Amino acid sequence: MFLSKSFIPLLKNYPSEAKIKSHKLMLRLGMIKQSSAGIYSWLPLGFKVMKKIEQIVREEQNKIGAQEILMPTIQSSEIWKESGRYEDYGEEMLRIKDRQNREILYGPTNEELVTDIFRNSIKSYKSLPQLLYHIQWKFRDELRPRFGIMRCREFFMKDAYSFDLSDDDAEFSYNKFFLSYLKTFKRLELSAIPMTAETGPIGGSLSHEFIILAETGESKIYTDKRIFDVNHDNYKLEKESLKKLRLEYDQFYAVTDEKIDNKEFNNKVDKKNQLETKGIEVGHIFYFGDKYSKPMNTAVDKDGKKIFVKMGSYGIGVSRLVGALIEANFDEKNEVMKWPVSVSPFECAIICFASKNDTTSIEMGIKVKNFLEQNNIETVLDDSDENFSGKLKKFNLIGIPFQILIGKNPDKNKVEFKEVGNDSKMISLEGALNFIKSKKIN
Ligand code: ATP
Ligand code: MG
Repeated sequence: MFLSKSFIPLLKNYPSEAKIKSHKLMLRLGMIKQSSAGIYSWLPLGFKVMKKIEQIVREEQNKIGAQEILMPTIQSSEIWKESGRYEDYGEEMLRIKDRQNREILYGPTNEELVTDIFRNSIKSYKSLPQLLYHIQWKFRDELRPRFGIMRCREFFMKDAYSFDLSDDDAEFSYNKFFLSYLKTFKRLELSAIPMTAETGPIGGSLSHEFIILAETGESKIYTDKRIFDVNHDNYKLEKESLKKLRLEYDQFYAVTDEKIDNKEFNNKVDKKNQLETKGIEVGHIFYFGDKYSKPMNTAVDKDGKKIFVKMGSYGIGVSRLVGALIEANFDEKNEVMKWPVSVSPFECAIICFASKNDTTSIEMGIKVKNFLEQNNIETVLDDSDENFSGKLKKFNLIGIPFQILIGKNPDKNKVEFKEVGNDSKMISLEGALNFIKSKKIN
């Protein structure tokens, strides 16, 4: 991609309406454009990042045996009346009438719809467990949409649902998602802590929120620092192994302000291990048994007996994660952003010195670009005649983790290669390629 041909509407300054760094940077880089309160269009730079996050989320869901479906954004009110949530959900639900005067709604979540799909398709306990997920837009008419795409009204969410025969099996499904969330956030280079959570309006008996630490987060959190040392790498997708994994985490006190009990915190965690800070919720998982299957009469047959299926639901805020990654990786003071390679909009920036009368460096840049692209590295080449230091500043904000700088009299055999945050060095183009490739494995 040539920067001059790209649709990346950069701004000179941060727009004044933005209060937190992710919102500021996303607007300044032209990643998103607000269309009305809490509703955004995603422009190429932002959309590329979100799509890469979505793909990592998808791969980790598939690895635990979850199957992808796609449910519509618009739902009928009938199923919500059946579950009893149509009235309860309140004003966050966007309610619409169609031309036949039927009540429809823009889905804020999909427990009812997926339960309806399940009950019409699965009759025997032998088909259990079932883990289904989709990645789809949601609408919640938030009272105070704010912080850009962090708390907006229309947002992109992965939501999964599990169906099991017994509580014990359902806990196994729950733990599979627990593991897949840890793996997903690790691939995004985020350290997300699972915190025992209130079950809230979705209701139920078991719940964890996955929170990443950030000064600008909306949730206040209280945790035992030792939870950061737990390592999930060696746990297998087996019942006993996953039970152990959850215990490893659950032994450490970690709650949000909704659940804090100061006395318990002080009793369970000695002063030196206490951490009180703020965080961003990036995922939330629930187990709620037959809360929906019972009112919606969703059961399987086992030995002539009717058993209501036991369900859980599992959300990840895919669009919110774009902002969360900026909160975690943007050094606002020095104006340096660095995306994890796995989700960066481009993998390598080629920044050429150029003036109207001297295009030698651009010609060299094009050679570098072709070579990298032939080797499956996504590149963007700045071919504008803006001054070199302006270009460097701009790319430090865009956050592409690797840069190749091509000055006035480029060396024929070596390029100036830089990983953001480190000093540049002169290496062969092959060497640069191999370095980028080694960082891409994830
Ligand atoms: P919150 O406590 O932040 O309001 P929630 O508990 O209502 O979130 P869930 O129903 O658990 O959210 O949704 C799953 C995930 O979707 C959340 O963990 C979050 O990452 C994301 N999400 C929820 N609401 C929004 C929103 N208004 N804007 C962007 N992402 C959201
Ligand atoms: Mg929540």
